Amino acid sequence: MAPLFASGQTQVRWPAGSILSDVQLSMLGKECFFWDEPLDDELFARIDGVSYSRGCTTPRSALRCLHLLHRNFGGHAQVGEMICAASVADELLDIFRELFDAGYPIEKICLVDEFGGDDLRSMEANNTSCFNFRPIAAGGRLSNHALGLAVDINPLYNPYVRGERIEPASGAVYADRTRKCPYYIRRGDACHAAFTSRGWSWGGSWRSARDWQHFEKKQ
Ligand SMILES: [Zn+2]
Repeated sequence: MAPLFASGQTQVRWPAGSILSDVQLSMLGKECFFWDEPLDDELFARIDGVSYSRGCTTPRSALRCLHLLHRNFGGHAQVGEMICAASVADELLDIFRELFDAGYPIEKICLVDEFGGDDLRSMEANNTSCFNFRPIAAGGRLSNHALGLAVDINPLYNPYVRGERIEPASGAVYADRTRKCPYYIRRGDACHAAFTSRGWSWGGSWRSARDWQHFEKKQ
């Protein structure tokens, strides 16, 4: 087993959800926690038939797995894991570095596969995620999540709202954006700025529906 405080490592692989102490963070440095890789066989076995559902038309080779850090709601550095399109992997690592440096609170970043690939369960657990091969909430065409080109941030506190429909339903109280809540994404805040300054569009500015949690990159 690798020593806990091995310095000079370029890539540290800790399970998503692992929390770093301040000592660990200062000894290891944050950069060894920000990296990406192709989907190896072990990872693919975790998602095959789950987020990478039957009939998935997104090639495995077009996806990357990101390893990153975020600040959890207690302010601690926490390990996250995310699958996204290879074309936005570097950009997303930059975005999450920026959010980490800004101390932006994100409760957890795990694969939606930890929730059986069920987007509702993932949202109810306030899980931040990207890739999931599924149609858009309104049905019909494929979501940009199916291409790994959309990210949902703190979805419980930033629900999807279309008329009377709110997802997740347990986040209905947070559809009221006049409330004070430190986890709301608001125009001009660190999260909104990190994405939109790189050309991502925000679902909170849509007209037909408000998808407060959602950022996507058009290719
Ligand atoms: Zn979304």
